[in-house]
Amino acid sequence: MPITDVTIVRRCADCSSEFGTMTVKKDNMRLMTSDLTWCDYCGTETREIRDIAEREATVTAEQASYPGNPPVEDVSAAEFRRRRSAGIAV
Ligand SMILES: [Zn+2]
Repeated sequence: MPITDVTIVRRCADCSSEFGTMTVKKDNMRLMTSDLTWCDYCGTETREIRDIAEREATVTAEQASYPGNPPVEDVSAAEFRRRRSAGIAV
């Protein structure tokens, strides 16, 4: 299954304190925003920056979802050939 939802982390552009996270559809993802958000730490309205949460995990999961080259089946095929060449009935 392709990943359709992504988790966005919202942070203060000035002090990087986290405002929270939100989950959006990947197609609707907007990392750039001109909205001002109140930051308790700064005590003022600041620009907000957004980043994808757990980017590494997302990329890994997405690559695993690509059709045509599933790592699990590669292992199975290698095991199949190993057994066959070893004369083990498969
Ligand atoms: Zn701030």
